[in-house]
Amino acid sequence: KKVADRYLKREVLGEGTYGVVYKAIDTQTGQTVAIKKIRLGKQKEGVNFTALREIKLLKELKDSNIIELIDAFPHKGNLHLVFEFMETDLEAVIRDRNIFLSPADIKSYLQMTLKGLAYCHKKWVLHRDMKPNNLLIGSNGQLKLADFGLARIFGSPDRRFTHQVFARWYRAPELLFGTKQYGSAVDVWAAACIFAELLLRRPFLQGSSDIDQLGKIFAAFGTPTPSQWPDMLYLPDYVEFQYVPAPPLRSLFPMASDDTLDLLSKMFAYDPKSRITIQQALEHRYFSSAPLPTDPSKLPRPT
Ligand code: ADP
Repeated sequence: KKVADRYLKREVLGEGTYGVVYKAIDTQTGQTVAIKKIRLGKQKEGVNFTALREIKLLKELKDSNIIELIDAFPHKGNLHLVFEFMETDLEAVIRDRNIFLSPADIKSYLQMTLKGLAYCHKKWVLHRDMKPNNLLIGSNGQLKLADFGLARIFGSPDRRFTHQVFARWYRAPELLFGTKQYGSAVDVWAAACIFAELLLRRPFLQGSSDIDQLGKIFAAFGTPTPSQWPDMLYLPDYVEFQYVPAPPLRSLFPMASDDTLDLLSKMFAYDPKSRITIQQALEHRYFSSAPLPTDPSKLPRPT
């Protein structure tokens, strides 16, 4: 069945937050695409605005590490977003027990993730929903950031966003403390969680509630001190907590190189103002020292 006289519908790929995603063939180009069908039903305004925001953002974002929005159109009361089709995602790679990830492979996946983010941050756009299943991988091994449904331009006058947008495990401590003035540092924290997940082959900080998430962070890095993070005391949901000492980071990542641990610790800085930026992270010696990142076309992928 043809959609909008152009796309030949194939199988359903999955169910997302706003609706079904299915595979299709673009009859004009022969290209395989993924079409995200967004319901424009009852909660009209919410869905509408989110979708429009996503379209507007995506159309302005063109980079080799950002998923391309090919087309967008309304059809039978649904909004259809046409993206380039991607073979798999980073979550599938991390979960696949048959895949061995070398330090060079991990470096390559992280570098592509950070490059996509650096591009967004340069355009004053936050991703805000970074997690391994939003990092799609194409047939050539290129990793691209997807799902900007929750992203928003952060240079706009109203900087007080809602803070419950992140998948909990990737949420920065300032979000867990209810900050309303967050910035690109939240994406750096999430990228650090993904970096750790690539090293450990399981999610690093698996909190079962927001409070438990903070507990997991404290257990890993020790409780933050006011001298480490002065603004913490003034955050809306800040509560006093019992002191927990920081274990050596090395004990959590026994196989990691010194460069790996140095970059990781800078991406996991408690104070968002002292956290390394994406650009600085890309310039860290981790990326220029041996082993160099694997060429994307040579990266291991699920079969
Ligand atoms: P969510 O909103 O839960 O993050 P999405 O709506 O982004 O999920 O995607 C739903 C499903 O569709 C996912 O499981 C993903 O595998 C698949 N999918 C999304 N985008 C693409 C794409 N560009 N190519 C191939 N599969 C995709």
